[in-house]
Amino acid sequence: ADLFRPERGNSQGWDLHDSRDLSNIEDARTPFRTHQWQAAPLTVSPAADGPVRAVMNPALPGDTVGLVAEATATHAAQAVADARAWDVPVADRAAALNRAADLYEAHFGELFALLAREAGKTPKDAIAELREAVDFLRYYAAQAAGLDAPARGVFTCISPWNFPLAIFSGQIAAALAAGNGVLAKPAETTSLIAHRATQLLHQAGVPVASLQLLAGPGRELGAVLTGGASINGVCFTGSTATAQRIQQVMAQDTAADAALIAETGGLNAMIVDSTALPEQAVRDIIASAFQSAGQRCSALRCLYVQEDIANSLLAMLYGAMDELRIGDPWDHATDVGPVIDARAQADFAAYIAAARERGALLHHLAAPEQGHFIGPAVIRVNGIADLEREIFGPVLHVATFKAAEIDAVVDAVNATGYGLTFGLHTRIDSRVEQVSSRLCVGNLYVNRNQIGAIVGSQPFGGEGMSGTGPKAGGPAYLPRFAQCDRIAHSA
Ligand code: GLU
Repeated sequence: ADLFRPERGNSQGWDLHDSRDLSNIEDARTPFRTHQWQAAPLTVSPAADGPVRAVMNPALPGDTVGLVAEATATHAAQAVADARAWDVPVADRAAALNRAADLYEAHFGELFALLAREAGKTPKDAIAELREAVDFLRYYAAQAAGLDAPARGVFTCISPWNFPLAIFSGQIAAALAAGNGVLAKPAETTSLIAHRATQLLHQAGVPVASLQLLAGPGRELGAVLTGGASINGVCFTGSTATAQRIQQVMAQDTAADAALIAETGGLNAMIVDSTALPEQAVRDIIASAFQSAGQRCSALRCLYVQEDIANSLLAMLYGAMDELRIGDPWDHATDVGPVIDARAQADFAAYIAAARERGALLHHLAAPEQGHFIGPAVIRVNGIADLEREIFGPVLHVATFKAAEIDAVVDAVNATGYGLTFGLHTRIDSRVEQVSSRLCVGNLYVNRNQIGAIVGSQPFGGEGMSGTGPKAGGPAYLPRFAQCDRIAHSA
């Protein structure tokens, strides 16, 4: 694992990277409070129109964010035939990606509005996300200069709705920086943001043949975009199950040397021992479990608290939770926005109701009735083995352990087969070594929260069922998009 402590930087703020003045957020985003966007495939050749879908704000029923004309399998097949590697000098590619970063920054008001209204992002999350997207563009542009290998050809980039700007842009930036052409397939739920970002990338000078956008259902587009001899690589972030399906399609259909770069789910734990600073631990538990309404693959799912301090720490946690504001992500005072859609909401509500039924629900906040909200919840478990799946929302499980059981806790976490993030709160230095030497995860965070990896200083990615490596935002990522066959798959 890469081990990160607070002194290595834990900023998610614009201010630490950049002095640009965002005090005018309100002025910049207000014109987009009721704006309606329109998206359609951005491809070389036109094809017959696909079905049109209305995008609704997950927080405000009745707020139509825009219309998406979806790409069909016909669009996708044509786009695959039209796709071209980006065969220009690396300095030109880097310059265009840097121009795109500038354009993202120039359009921050519109992007913040889209992030709030299409993806339910609070201002704090939106700022961090824009920052991360810009960092990815600049970081891979800078790294490309040192990449001494030809492009693979054409990459399909399949991105998730939970970071609809940052992960969408990061995948594409890496593939393009290395000189590939890209077929971008964003999550259906966040097609409008993807469309706007792609327009800005084109405006910055990325040719359409080297970046085509196909927003539509995975079941319609997936096989066309991941199979076939013209696809030289797939970069995917999303569920482990979908990654496994992509792998099967690629194994049957795609050139033998095509690359799969997948970042998938996790069952992430945190240990808080009896020497931890409780105030700090509580802050970090809240951020790790409930920021972004728990919709991060890095989020804390299972907290292990040392038995001796469990009652007092949990009392403090519930007190801090009671201060959280749940509501419209447009509002600066909101801490927890909506979950992504009605299906997610119904799934989590049923999960929490089942916990209540069996007497395991320890704490649960009320949430607005209108909109897809879930009040943050804490559920008692015996250990991480009780978690049957990743609940991708604001639901925290809690177990207790005795001092002598630390190794057994780590073994139970390893036994899930996932290995993405882990949090450790302790003031015993040897315990950090004890845990880190045993644990199989990508990112271990000590005495801080376990979300919000920073491009360039905290490469992000997991082991086992959590991903193939290499880590995004780190030096090993870009070589995987080029023909550097001796570079290790994970870093
Ligand atoms: N990179 C994000 C973080 O560190 C998580 C990305 C994801 O959810 O896929 O919180």
